[in-house]
Amino acid sequence: MPSPEPVRSTHFIRNIIQEDLQSGKHQEIVTRFPPEPNGYLHIGHAKSIFLNFGLVKEFPGHCFMRFDDTNPINEDEEYVQAILEDVLWLGFDWKDLLTHASDYFQRLYVFAEDLIQQGKAYVDSQSQDSIREQRGTLTEPGTASPFRDRSIAENLDLFRRMKSGEFDDGTHVLRAKIDMASPNINLRDPVIYRIRKVPHQRTGNDWCLYPMYDYTHCLSDALEGVTHSLCTLEFEDHRPLYDWVLDQLDVPCHPRQIEFSRLNLQYTVLSKRRLIQLVEEGHVSGWDDPRLPTISGLRRRGYTPESLRLFAERIGVSKAESNIYMSVLEDCIREDLDSKAPRALAVLRPVKVIILNWPEDQVEELDAPVHQQFPDRGRRSIPMSREIFIEEDDFNEDPPEGFYRLVPGGEVRLRNAYVIRCDEVVRDASGKIKELHCIYDPNTARGRKPEGRKVKGIIHWVSAAHAIPAEVRLYDRLFSEPTPGSDNPDKNFLLDLNQYSMEILTQAWLEPNLKKADAGTAYQFERLGYFCLDSRDSKTDSLVFNRIVTLRDSWGGN
Ligand code: ATP
Ligand code: MG
Repeated sequence: MPSPEPVRSTHFIRNIIQEDLQSGKHQEIVTRFPPEPNGYLHIGHAKSIFLNFGLVKEFPGHCFMRFDDTNPINEDEEYVQAILEDVLWLGFDWKDLLTHASDYFQRLYVFAEDLIQQGKAYVDSQSQDSIREQRGTLTEPGTASPFRDRSIAENLDLFRRMKSGEFDDGTHVLRAKIDMASPNINLRDPVIYRIRKVPHQRTGNDWCLYPMYDYTHCLSDALEGVTHSLCTLEFEDHRPLYDWVLDQLDVPCHPRQIEFSRLNLQYTVLSKRRLIQLVEEGHVSGWDDPRLPTISGLRRRGYTPESLRLFAERIGVSKAESNIYMSVLEDCIREDLDSKAPRALAVLRPVKVIILNWPEDQVEELDAPVHQQFPDRGRRSIPMSREIFIEEDDFNEDPPEGFYRLVPGGEVRLRNAYVIRCDEVVRDASGKIKELHCIYDPNTARGRKPEGRKVKGIIHWVSAAHAIPAEVRLYDRLFSEPTPGSDNPDKNFLLDLNQYSMEILTQAWLEPNLKKADAGTAYQFERLGYFCLDSRDSKTDSLVFNRIVTLRDSWGGN
């Protein structure tokens, strides 16, 4: 099926790679996508996935799928599986290049002994607090630890005993010996190993000594032969440390770290810490809640990989801080689905219409295209009978100017069917509209114009006897503020949750063709938006649909 082809705007990272290939610096490129398995992936990660995996589709090379699993406390196998599923779904295959930082624990350990032997690392036996206090500030240099000048032999002995489990958590750490007066705080003897007597999801109880991120990341990159190590801007200040570690050790190559700005998206949050809080405190139904910006949430909502790719292309890659409008994302799914989505009729808030001049038992099969713009996709049949449902707000007894839908005494066309006129409004005892009594004009089938008069409006409808019931969930933005938590006095992002982010409609009626809907297909419910099947109850066969997005932006472009 045709999807809008993303317009490929070039960016600085692509330019660097092109130059490196042209100059012969590299024959092929190696990248990696390195998530920590401490949460589900979100659309910010998708940006990084499209970049890293995308570049090696465009240029000769390959991309490692590497789990950065150095902190066993927050990591979990559930996250590992979810991450792999998301990457595959986005359309990328790491083939046999699935690795883990933990695969390198032994080699990283040997490198650390090497640093000690060179006099470039030492065991510090102070508390974490003391180490932090001695780091200094941006304007003041740090203070050397009293253990900074331990002998190589003593350092090696202590480090080996740290590894063997002799000491408790927090009693000793290994620090790189760089420069306590460096203007870059990351170079003030950073901690590179700490004791954590916690089993690791992959290495079990093999280790009680775990390497820190900055030390692990550059070495994992080098061991995998990464040429371009792409990360977000907050690591810019860590680059000197990345380079320092690699410069001290005998590593196979020295990857180039390049930073780009992270994706920020308005009206949502893209931080794992906050996403975990939303899930764990029950503000959403789970990691795949269709309102979340997680990849699994977007998938369940009905977003397609193509729409996310289009989004990634559209937002581009640069070093400029950005806060992208939600409408940019929403437009991408609209554009992708406009051509793909089969059309269907559905009534979400029904009001019954009885067509008095339609014979009681008559059922007429009306014919409609699957998609108006693509005749080759075929036609579908829609039954019409004496009783139909129309949308509550397509009828108005006191219509504002320019209301071209159904009004007492007025006419409207039923989509793909006839023109009807409303003759009577029937109410129940409480005064609520019970049904509308109408008559239809049999001479107006298949778009035929009624004689001698103009009918402007077209509304959607379903046959009451044939429609299938469904629950339809309408989603809106999860937060009511563009930058959640930025403006309220407590800086508490939860206070900005949009209380109207989900509306559940339990009385919707769908055209009978949707009985066969499968979870992978998005439909355009005409005049309403794009929807997809969320679930089907296997016992009752009842259907739940999600609204993916409305047909038009109702938020005014942001
Ligand atoms: P978070 O800040 O949400 O906890 P993280 O950066 O800690 O995310 P990782 O699992 O370490 O999450 O990220 C894996 C990769 O995805 C990293 O290379 C990281 O730079 C990238 N990434 C994470 N968030 C974004 C984002 N918002 N935009 C672009 N890339 C991102
Ligand atoms: Mg991280």
